[in-house]
Amino acid sequence: MQAFKGRFVFPETGAVEEGYLWVEAGRVREFAKAPPSGAEVVALEGYAVPGLIDAHVHLSFSGGADPVREMEEEPPATTVVRAAGYLRGYLEAGITALRDLGSRDGLAVGLARAVEQGLLPGPRIVAAGRFLTPTGGHGHRHGVEADGPDAVRRAAREELKRGARAIKLMATGGVMTPGLPAGVPMFEEAELAAGVAEAKKRRFPAAAHAQGLEGIKNALRAGVTTVEHGAFDGWDAEALQLFHQQSALLVPTLAAPDGILRGAGEVPAFMVEKTRGIAERHRANLLEAYRKGVAVAAGTDAGTPLNPHPNLARELWLLAEVGLEPADVLRAATLYAARALGQEGALGTFTPGAWADLAVLEGNPLADPGAYARVAATYLAGRRVA
Ligand SMILES: [Zn+2]
Repeated sequence: MQAFKGRFVFPETGAVEEGYLWVEAGRVREFAKAPPSGAEVVALEGYAVPGLIDAHVHLSFSGGADPVREMEEEPPATTVVRAAGYLRGYLEAGITALRDLGSRDGLAVGLARAVEQGLLPGPRIVAAGRFLTPTGGHGHRHGVEADGPDAVRRAAREELKRGARAIKLMATGGVMTPGLPAGVPMFEEAELAAGVAEAKKRRFPAAAHAQGLEGIKNALRAGVTTVEHGAFDGWDAEALQLFHQQSALLVPTLAAPDGILRGAGEVPAFMVEKTRGIAERHRANLLEAYRKGVAVAAGTDAGTPLNPHPNLARELWLLAEVGLEPADVLRAATLYAARALGQEGALGTFTPGAWADLAVLEGNPLADPGAYARVAATYLAGRRVA
């Protein structure tokens, strides 16, 4: 048995408590005021939070000004090596788990396996493989095109067969596909439902890229786990009610428009143009959904223009800036992000049975949303990894 001694920030209560986190076989046994007898005690400086989780990244994109072009111009093996190179940075940033929502040839599935096998150090990876999209839909150049529920079902099964542990579906157009308005519906409800059903059979999460209201409602009715990006044309009562009914999470990915707008002049002009048209509404809509009780999970969309690996500290800063309370910012990157990965109870919490993944921050994140940018140490299953 081992024990960590220090100040722990509990996402469930939003409280800081001093004490000992008992760890056995890499998992939390309990939190107590004294260590177990004979335990090896590790004293932590600063504030320990459950290992941080980024619920939306793209490891095959570089976060450069034009990542899609960059990837298309390099051999696939280079993309794999480049993507593997980001993993150490995630650990150093206190990020112990991430969800990849669409990679070149599904390479993130292979990286997930390599980390599990101990071939390279990295955070736990839940990978969606390739994203699923209708013919000509958002991301079609690097996803799998499928039309009609049968084809979507088959495509989802194919990704699962290749080792995916999440399914990514395009419910609307997006910023990074030229000539396609961001908000226009893509997959229909029945197509989305077919993909979601395959994920749910395996208890894996289903994520929908969804930016317009109609597409968001299609995705929610289909039962997705997470709505990625969120409304750019306002909510209606039905959409907000669907979030509650389905216990769906909103992953606003504020770091994505943030990067594109800061990169104006470098980033392809059509992306900047589209983002300018929607960025302000995006933030207002996030705040409205949050105030109406929608659970918000943290995901960066890292890899998109000027949105580097890792960028979760920036996302958390932006969530606080929009108006999330400090405890909800912490929940976004722990409790709720764990749910987005289909890992509720196992990750993002200090409750007994959870993996002993920890990020030790120099400052108190409940007092300073910038604290996530200063990580003193990272532990995975009780072992120091950064
Ligand atoms: Zn994305």
